Amino acid sequence: MTDAEPKVFLVGAGPGNPGLLTLRAVECLSRADLILYDQLAAAPLLEHTRAGAECVCVSELGPYAERRPLIHRAMIDAAQRGKVVVRLKGGDPFVFGRGGEEAEALRAAGISFEIVPGVTAGLGAAAFAGIPLTHRAYSSAVAFVTGHEDPAKETPAIDWEALARFPGTLVFYMGVARLGGIAAALIEKGKTPDTPAALVHWATTSRQRTLVSTLGQLAEAARAAQFTAPSLVIIGPVVALREQVQWFERRPLFGKGVLVTRPRHQAGELMRRLDELGAVPIELAAVEIREPKDWSPVDAALARLPQFQWLVFTSVNGVRWFFRRLLESGRDVRALGAVQLAAIGPSTAEALRAFHLEPDLVPSRYCSESLAEALRERAAGQRVLLVRADRGRELLREELAQSAQVEQIAVYSQVDADLTGSEALKRLRDGELDYVTLTSSNIARNLILALDQTSRDRITAGQVQLVSISPVTSQTVRELGLPVAGEAMGYTTKGLMEALVRLASRKSA
Ligand code: SAH
Repeated sequence: MTDAEPKVFLVGAGPGNPGLLTLRAVECLSRADLILYDQLAAAPLLEHTRAGAECVCVSELGPYAERRPLIHRAMIDAAQRGKVVVRLKGGDPFVFGRGGEEAEALRAAGISFEIVPGVTAGLGAAAFAGIPLTHRAYSSAVAFVTGHEDPAKETPAIDWEALARFPGTLVFYMGVARLGGIAAALIEKGKTPDTPAALVHWATTSRQRTLVSTLGQLAEAARAAQFTAPSLVIIGPVVALREQVQWFERRPLFGKGVLVTRPRHQAGELMRRLDELGAVPIELAAVEIREPKDWSPVDAALARLPQFQWLVFTSVNGVRWFFRRLLESGRDVRALGAVQLAAIGPSTAEALRAFHLEPDLVPSRYCSESLAEALRERAAGQRVLLVRADRGRELLREELAQSAQVEQIAVYSQVDADLTGSEALKRLRDGELDYVTLTSSNIARNLILALDQTSRDRITAGQVQLVSISPVTSQTVRELGLPVAGEAMGYTTKGLMEALVRLASRKSA
């Protein structure tokens, strides 16, 4: 690294929603050797820092009052030792973040730096509460103000009279504790008490809560509703627009805790959909996917591929592990020759397309029964290779064997994860979850067998609801003595989401 290259990045992490990081922030985080972060900016660390990077919360450096010089020292020391440092701050570094002081300290020490702006909490809160900060009919200016200052101070740095006259929207940071004083000071200087005012707590996150009141009554209402930090105060006629414009808290699964029991690398789509519906997804991989115990049957089948007329895939994992082994054995997709390809459902078909292969057959309903039926005539009298896990239903093989010559190979092994002591199950027991999604019989069985009596009671009482992906999975749940609250139509993730939304709307109706 040359001296001219930046060694410290003062990075704004945005208001807490992981999607509100900038691309530059992600880039810096993924390169950093040391990340010095504020408590409010902890969320992106898990996902974007590289393995082995050191993450230090500034609260570990010392008590609040003594922390400033320690933060400066830690940044400078690490930079002088040649490390790439990210100083990660909530919101934007230059909006009530003391980013200016940190930059001055770096300059004084001769350390080169870069400032990466972030979505400041005021903008995040306004957007996610549905309060346009400016509006042609109501407000032509915005002021960001610190609410940290005691309005009763003898020589206030804030000109309350000017703020009371300010022709636009006022946004107070760090103001919950002093709400009463802030409102009184503004009203005393002439702002009308019935000016609409809102508080937004944990804006942009699944914990967001919004309170709408008037300037005169906001402090009392906030006390009654127990609003604490971090919260933002927005004052002005634009607050009234929220009634029409709010969207985030109206999402159908807003704030609902949903357990996702898929293996981690497969949970992505489910997690994204849940997020967009407003839910708080919690991951718990109830089964793990591993290499098969024995590759030799697979290798033998790979060597004889041209003998088969059909290759049948019943899962995304099946596709991935099959091709992994095919490539590892020194072959490539040409080894498939003219064999026809069947995929059990849309996701499995998509996994084949990733290898530039278009399946010849995808049944209209995504289940073994439909696949067997669709193949019955087309594969009659032919040789079929069934690519699957080392456990699961035998139905497909049995059905196909009636009209075709079937061989099956296990290209991956599915094992029950050890769920004892799992954090997610503790949350279920403590009543923090609303729904549990079950995406296969094996997953359902392993999860249910790991539940204690309190958790089972919660489910039986309907406080936590089980939602299953298919009739087969539902059957397994019932056999284990628990009720199924919802079932996906179409055996897909989308169907599972629709079942959740139906349940949630029934609950709130
Ligand atoms: N630099 C930050 C502000 C730091 S001051 C920024 O640009 O956003 C800390 C204050 O920001 C908190 O007291 C609170 O008023 C506000 N704040 C930060 N994150 C918030 C959030 N997610 N929801 C509501 N207020 C938030």
